[in-house]
Amino acid sequence: MRELFIPETKNPPAKVKDQGLISLVMEGAGVFNAKSGEIILLPIGRSTLNSIAEDLAESLLEKNGIQHVDCNASEESIHSLAERYVREYGNKALSWMVTSERKLRLWGWADTKEDAKMKTAMAADTIRSIMERYIPDFDYLLEVGSKTINRMVGVCSTQKGSLYEFEGLSCPKCGVYYHADSADVSAYNPLNPEQKEEEVKDVHTPGAHTMSLLCEQLGIDPIQGLKAMLYTVMMPDGKKILLFAMIRGDKNISINKLTAYVDSKFKGSSFRRAENEEIVSAFGEVAGFCGPIGVPEGVHTVADRSLVGGKNYVVGGNRPDYHRTGCCWGRDFKPEVADLLLFEESTPCPDSGTPMVSVSLRKICMVECYSSEERGETVLSCRDRDGEHKWSYRWGAEISLEPLILSFYEKKEKRIRDAIFENN
Ligand SMILES: [Zn+2]
Repeated sequence: MRELFIPETKNPPAKVKDQGLISLVMEGAGVFNAKSGEIILLPIGRSTLNSIAEDLAESLLEKNGIQHVDCNASEESIHSLAERYVREYGNKALSWMVTSERKLRLWGWADTKEDAKMKTAMAADTIRSIMERYIPDFDYLLEVGSKTINRMVGVCSTQKGSLYEFEGLSCPKCGVYYHADSADVSAYNPLNPEQKEEEVKDVHTPGAHTMSLLCEQLGIDPIQGLKAMLYTVMMPDGKKILLFAMIRGDKNISINKLTAYVDSKFKGSSFRRAENEEIVSAFGEVAGFCGPIGVPEGVHTVADRSLVGGKNYVVGGNRPDYHRTGCCWGRDFKPEVADLLLFEESTPCPDSGTPMVSVSLRKICMVECYSSEERGETVLSCRDRDGEHKWSYRWGAEISLEPLILSFYEKKEKRIRDAIFENN
């Protein structure tokens, strides 16, 4: 007797909002244990999951040479595997994958940053090509992360209340997804390129301690302003450094991106908002009117990309109730530059400039590369006749098969519609 158990269900599971889970249950592919939150896959669901995972693994072996092994999927296991074989087999021993607990994980080593980036991009491409077969609107978010060179998060659209759902943003015009800490790839035009560099002038702006109050008083657009935030960085040796972070007046700073910047700049440090007495001891009494001109010695300055090259900004005057006009990048202030932009609803899309709207996304996978040393991991190395070889960079991926199969069932109808449309 060879018969699959595919129970018929006429009613959707109670209290479940996830459209993928509802359709998975109603097609007899699985059942949901509401008490434990477990999705139990029945034979048809299990075989669907396995065939998607096999497709991925086969493609990753074929296109990227990643070896599929079975072990406990820990960092130590895979590291010891690479260490054992790298001397004799070189490249063939530098990337591995393991399927366990409804996850497909990938590990890879590289000797240069460029190579790590390339291998990450190639693995991401292979994953995308397979994903698109199962999830028509699969796409990557480019994310800025701490101790990370590149990170891409694979997502697709879903509905509020779905499992593995998080709030993202989307451009109504190009359909591209973003979220709060997405990498900002906008090509900014410097502010006022046609204007002459004005002289710096003090202007009296009583009580204008917010961007909107300032704009109202002076009748300017927020783009012309500069938002400044002060933080205290605590170094591992106990020393404190004041950090002056700034962004264009119409934008806000992402704390996660600032964390990534601080991590790379001040290794081993932590940071928080500066306390008033810390600000006073460096700047004197400025009470919310901090500006980038005449920043005291020892204060570290960093600006978001949006400010680069601009002319005639209106900035804090470094004394209460005063601002300065005519502040020019390069002439009056030249901070370090980093991507600090917080993506929010109504942030213009970097490609089309259309204001973004909030959407629900389902996270399916993550692909990234980083330096082993920066994360405190053991660097892979081996010794032969030519001396020591080192692979200081890592790349890797994690594909979560559970959200993947949920989205697969959620988008089943759309996939069928698309297929019919293509065939006609
Ligand atoms: Zn767009």
